[in-house]
Amino acid sequence: MKTSVYLTAILLFGTAVTHAQTTIKQANIPSANPDNAEVFAPIPKAVVPGNTFSNAPSDAIILFDGKNLDEWISEDKSPAKWTVADGIVTVNKKAGDIETKRQFNSYQLHLEWRIPADITGEGQARGNSGVFLSGRYEIQVLDNYNNENKTYTNGMAGSVYREAIPLVNPAKKAGEWNVYDIAYSAPEFNEDGSVKAPGHVTVFFNGVMVQNNTEIRGGTSTDKKHVYVKHGAAPLRLQAHGDKSAPISYRNIWIREE
Ligand code: MG
Repeated sequence: MKTSVYLTAILLFGTAVTHAQTTIKQANIPSANPDNAEVFAPIPKAVVPGNTFSNAPSDAIILFDGKNLDEWISEDKSPAKWTVADGIVTVNKKAGDIETKRQFNSYQLHLEWRIPADITGEGQARGNSGVFLSGRYEIQVLDNYNNENKTYTNGMAGSVYREAIPLVNPAKKAGEWNVYDIAYSAPEFNEDGSVKAPGHVTVFFNGVMVQNNTEIRGGTSTDKKHVYVKHGAAPLRLQAHGDKSAPISYRNIWIREE
């Protein structure tokens, strides 16, 4: 009896979550280019996150523990040149993106990021970085505390860049650490390069679900149609965005392969 009550509650909760996401996706109607257009509504509700636990479990691969970038390289395969100090790594914009030496398929990923307290700029030029799953599909990093930095909502922190608006906005203020816990199912491809199954991503942002098994529509380009290009296991990539605002920092990065 108890079990069935619990199951019913879980099913009702799941239905509500699915419905909420459907509502937002239906509202996410592109205005110009149907493949990557900016949208400005609805605006995700700002919520205050609780505290989260972030210690790596025993089977995790530690990608950054505060000491060095031994697990990372630059895009040109030279040693990663971001700045490690005081247990955190800070983006070196001149040095470009960094990516893992290891290649991954589907996984659970944990990482923490912080916008500098003295951040300046606006829109996409305010604390922009990003987490590229399979090196191709960006979960945006940006200063969007309390919806004060206006930008297209499918380009906010917690969005699948230019594809999916976060369900809510639990971003912390500049100077405080944010946490991403991401469950990622990589896309699968047929021999001829066509998509067998698209990628999906679930994102918990400071412990709050902002993407619920969201279907990824293709490589999250800024200026091109989002399309899939066949790939296999790939590095995780972190973005050195070219805007003029102060660089952001990351810490405590670990991954568990599926
Ligand atoms: Mg970005």
